[in-house]
Amino acid sequence: MHSGRAEAPNKNAVVDLRSDTVTRPTPAMRAAMAAAEVGDDVYGEDPTVNRLQARAAELFQREAALFVPTGCMGNLLAILGWTQRSNEVICEQRAHVNLYELASMSAVAGVMPRTVPAPSGILTWDRIEPLIREKIYYDSQTALVTLENTHNMHGGTVYPTAVAEDICERAHDAGLRVHLDGARIFNAAVALGKSVAEITRKFDSVMFCLSKGLGAPVGSILLGAHEFIKQAHIRRKMLGGGMRQVGILAAAGLIALEASPKRLVLDHENARHLAKGLAALKGIALDPAHVVTNIVIFDVRGTGRTAAQICEQLAGKTVLCSASDKYSVRMVTHCDVDRTGIDAALSAIAQVVADKAPAAAAH
Ligand SMILES: *Cc1c(COP(=O)(O)O)cnc(C)c1O
Repeated sequence: MHSGRAEAPNKNAVVDLRSDTVTRPTPAMRAAMAAAEVGDDVYGEDPTVNRLQARAAELFQREAALFVPTGCMGNLLAILGWTQRSNEVICEQRAHVNLYELASMSAVAGVMPRTVPAPSGILTWDRIEPLIREKIYYDSQTALVTLENTHNMHGGTVYPTAVAEDICERAHDAGLRVHLDGARIFNAAVALGKSVAEITRKFDSVMFCLSKGLGAPVGSILLGAHEFIKQAHIRRKMLGGGMRQVGILAAAGLIALEASPKRLVLDHENARHLAKGLAALKGIALDPAHVVTNIVIFDVRGTGRTAAQICEQLAGKTVLCSASDKYSVRMVTHCDVDRTGIDAALSAIAQVVADKAPAAAAH
């Protein structure tokens, strides 16, 4: 359903709202990949990777950038760069670094997540400050704060720039570093009507994904000062992330970076349309005003069914989504789902919730 896609429209096409990672590379990306100028990136000789890194650094007004295979690796490299073993890292309870990265900060970096819940996932300094450990030799020491913008598991919520900057400034005053898990930072920038450079300037490091809403098949970027990126480059190799003629992937990344941000507004409009339609259905609870980017999370308790049951029934109607909690369903809009797809999803959900609850869940 991507504009420029070769396939004919199909009424029974699967509407895949599980994540914005499910997008397929566009014809322009595939053409650029086929034509990419490449070299051995472990020798620093891949011109397309070098171009992507330089362009990302320029867009974010940073000294340097590093292309990494995944967002998880980018976050882990930042944590490795800003901490020592036995340190603590403060993050929101439902942060991706805490829940979905295989505890790599503990297993690989040797640090402890110190988590705190925050409304809508948006931390404020008053929630962070009490968690900072005292400078006593028998206390593990706080080294880093990580923020997530947009916040995935809270429904794509966006940090007001002043709140994020306040955290950065006060953390710096307390001798802490601040890393941004900006997997979807372009969605945040679009929602705020500001540039990515403007909303990230106070962070010590930033990671963003090319492979989410921007639609590239693979890749994320880590940004920071020269010395930080130099160290991350060494550790990327140590983690097995040294890649060779990877300009083939960077070529798609460059197109994602240049072309995709301007169309994210459509994903946000589709998410809002989806949220309004969902809110009108009996048994579904959500506040459409909460939906400001491309993630819609809604409560299905009122249907008498679990999120997993709802997802399974929707899959039977070729609408894919995922359970983000026992009673919460998550749907994510992206460039491979258009308004027709969203309307098809809404009518499938309306049918599912109108059906009688399965006996197993009725009591
Ligand atoms: C997807 C995601 C990541 C990690 O990205 P991968 O490329 O899947 O490793 C990190 N943070 C957030 C908030 C994400 O949504």
